[in-house]
Amino acid sequence: MIAGILLKGYSGFYYVYAEGRVWECSLRGRFRIQGQEFLTGDRVQILPSNGNKATIEKVEERRNSLVRPTIANVDQAFLVFALVSPRPDLNLLDRLLIQVSEVGIKPVIILNKVDQAEVNSEDATAENSISSLDFYQNLHYDLIKVSTRTGQGIAEVREHLKDKVTVLAGPSGVGKSSLVNALEPGFELKTGEISRKLKRGRHTTRHVELMVCGEGLLADTPGFSSLYLPKMKREELTLFFPEFADVPGKCRFTSCVHHKEPDCAIKAAVESGQIEKSRYEHYCLFLEEVIAAERRY
Ligand code: GDP
Repeated sequence: MIAGILLKGYSGFYYVYAEGRVWECSLRGRFRIQGQEFLTGDRVQILPSNGNKATIEKVEERRNSLVRPTIANVDQAFLVFALVSPRPDLNLLDRLLIQVSEVGIKPVIILNKVDQAEVNSEDATAENSISSLDFYQNLHYDLIKVSTRTGQGIAEVREHLKDKVTVLAGPSGVGKSSLVNALEPGFELKTGEISRKLKRGRHTTRHVELMVCGEGLLADTPGFSSLYLPKMKREELTLFFPEFADVPGKCRFTSCVHHKEPDCAIKAAVESGQIEKSRYEHYCLFLEEVIAAERRY
């Protein structure tokens, strides 16, 4: 038997990537009897029969699974933003970092269109330096600067893809399609816009597919399109702001949620510049959302 990853299920067949090729698999009968549900990304054991045919003999337990797109065992999410056109939406980036981390997926921030840095050097203001997202590196997030136009950083992205299952996320216009095409010419990213263009009905379900991209597997549909934060208790929000844990001082109140309380060590760290202002502002914004959601449960 050989180990593989389910790329897609289609018309009763299951396409599995194993040992560098795609196998058309049928199911062992007992899976049908048990009503076993398979998800794209499932880790399976297959038994080859002839040619590219095989049967799925075993399915491993899932490490994680996303709902939209429905996919299991995702290793990492590429959070794609652009230096300009559009400028990075840091509220969205901080939101995505929480959504991704909460399901145990590693975020990798990709900043595209860095070829435009020169053009903007004249107004090299604070806004530009924030746009460069450099401070996220100090928070121990991976940050790759790329230009699909010049090819800068593409080799590094390719290195990150290797042997991993990856999902893309990020607003439209930042260059997600251009990025996948730079990595794997011919890769078709099925974005919301494309499906709208094809006039798919709102209720048409389209199954997500994993496709070979470089030496890894990439979902053909971007993920994390919902803006909602995951359900959590207000005191859990700090877990998603790892820099808060590095602050040396202590708050006056042990129950401090770093918002309206006096003598707060986190607020002092924002004042001194140890914590980035935008991060703290988003923390406060998210805290209000979490508290409002708490009331609904
Ligand atoms: P998506 O909506 O995220 O899939 O973005 P697209 O891949 O469709 O790209 C949006 C626009 O940005 C297109 O006009 C691309 O030509 C442009 N673009 C993509 N990558 C780069 C880049 O590295 N530099 C510059 N200057 N423009 C880019």
